[in-house]
Amino acid sequence: MATEFVQSLLLPASSHPVWVAVVTVLSLFILRSLLKKLLKQKITNFPRKFPEDREKKTKAFYDVAVVGAGPAGSTLGYYLAKAGRNCLLLEKKKFPRDKYCGDAVCKTAIEILMDMGIYEKLIKENKARVADAGGLCSPGGLSYIGRSKEILGEIPAALACKRWWLDEAIAMAAKRAGANLQENSGVKDAVFDAKSGLWTVYLEDSDKTYKARILVCADGAPSKLATKLGIVKRPPDGSCSRAYVESGTHKFKADGCIFYHKDMLPGYSALFRHPNNELNYCVYLIPGNPKVTNDDLPYWHDFLMKQDPNISKSLGPGAKLERMKAASLRLGGEPVSHRDHVLVVGDAAGMIDPMTGEGIHHAMEAGKMAAKFIDEAMYHGNYDKDVMRLYHDAWMDKFGSDFKWSFAICQLLYRFPILLDAATAAIARKGDKFLAAWADIMTGRVPKIHLLRPEFVIVITFELVSLIVRRALGIEKKREKKLE
Ligand SMILES: Cc1cc2nc3c(=O)[nH]c(=O)nc-3n(C[C@H](O)[C@H](O)[C@H](O)COP(=O)(O)OP(=O)(O)OC[C@H]3O[C@@H](n4cnc5c(N)ncnc54)[C@H](O)[C@@H]3O)c2cc1C
Repeated sequence: MATEFVQSLLLPASSHPVWVAVVTVLSLFILRSLLKKLLKQKITNFPRKFPEDREKKTKAFYDVAVVGAGPAGSTLGYYLAKAGRNCLLLEKKKFPRDKYCGDAVCKTAIEILMDMGIYEKLIKENKARVADAGGLCSPGGLSYIGRSKEILGEIPAALACKRWWLDEAIAMAAKRAGANLQENSGVKDAVFDAKSGLWTVYLEDSDKTYKARILVCADGAPSKLATKLGIVKRPPDGSCSRAYVESGTHKFKADGCIFYHKDMLPGYSALFRHPNNELNYCVYLIPGNPKVTNDDLPYWHDFLMKQDPNISKSLGPGAKLERMKAASLRLGGEPVSHRDHVLVVGDAAGMIDPMTGEGIHHAMEAGKMAAKFIDEAMYHGNYDKDVMRLYHDAWMDKFGSDFKWSFAICQLLYRFPILLDAATAAIARKGDKFLAAWADIMTGRVPKIHLLRPEFVIVITFELVSLIVRRALGIEKKREKKLE
């Protein structure tokens, strides 16, 4: 039967339905990409409506009012101010302030921190630690901890930095660059006047108002302002816990590790080490598993640290953890992140990868992209919805459209946890370079479609078949490399 199928595949391409289907799908895909490129609008296609905005001089209003000075808003503020634009950055809290997070800062964000001149300072002041020894533990108990420093060189794979320090550093960099950072300034509302083309921004605890040409909602996962304005239309979908583990009370020796539990997939938990040897223990609940809801977060947080053999061993019997803190995750990208004179950036626009629950790097990347886009839009003096859409399309092209693959892979992992075992076995076989390439895909630096490249497909398929055979024969020997 199988031989007949293989023989039939070897028939001339034109006459076999499988080849015809593959060629048709590929042609349609290429045609769609070509059409998209050909029909792509440019900012210069739109009429100039506010010619005076080209001038980078002080006006009676702000060029841009950014609501929220997290990584998205502050990065945007930094690059806008650098471009000479008059930017108001409104933040409801006072820095430094806590933000519940795993504190894992990926390569893309590190590059931007380097560009802003913040990275070296954070390391020097012992506020951030480069993660060198890191890896993963699969649902079937296979694990690998590799080293990344020698492989990656100048730009590390990840950094552990408390948001207390990270967010303050980015916000202060924006301020130094010239953005008008106003702390303790929670925004209550914003109203647009079409005649003047200006927003009036209202604060929560003050009668003070501000006028701006463009409004940016960068107020995090709840996305209250963009929801109020009717741009974002759904609540956040995932959730994540955090608990710091006191230095000297745990047994974890690596810098970071991701732990998958088969009953909680596609979610996972993680341990990450800070410069002072404190740990960050996090549990990410990612949608896609009908048996796990966001209400189960306290259960999983407690269960994994006590019952998961790898996590409980890493923590040790004397580990002192702070009380669980939790916050929501808005995953997978919002379908719309723009409107006349408005952009939505970072978590507020759902820029968290469903495979990892991480979004600092996308928030910063989008903040930088939005700044460049706004500077260009101001040069052309048009902020109509169709112009602002070019920003939405740009971040979708860069990383957002990849989120749909992440959702699909999450479903695969939930249904077939053995795939994660096979991937972990492949990483263990191929070593640190393979782990670094895997991390680049997981963190969205490289599109998820790269998982279909032969260097991944061949080795993971080999490990998959070998695991299936060993499990079928009952001779599977766990190649677990103990966490050192
Ligand atoms: C528990 C947990 C763990 C996570 N772990 C990681 C991780 O390890 N790595 C990673 O990359 N990502 C992680 N994430 C995701 C990451 O936290 C977000 O992607 C990132 O914070 C997005 O930045 P942002 O600037 O868009 O939003 P935020 O960081 O949420 O910043 C929004 C800012 O807006 C302010 N604000 C809100 N409302 C108003 C208002 N009305 N007026 C004025 N200001 C306002 C807030 O005070 C805040 O400062 C985690 C998330 C959670 C919940």
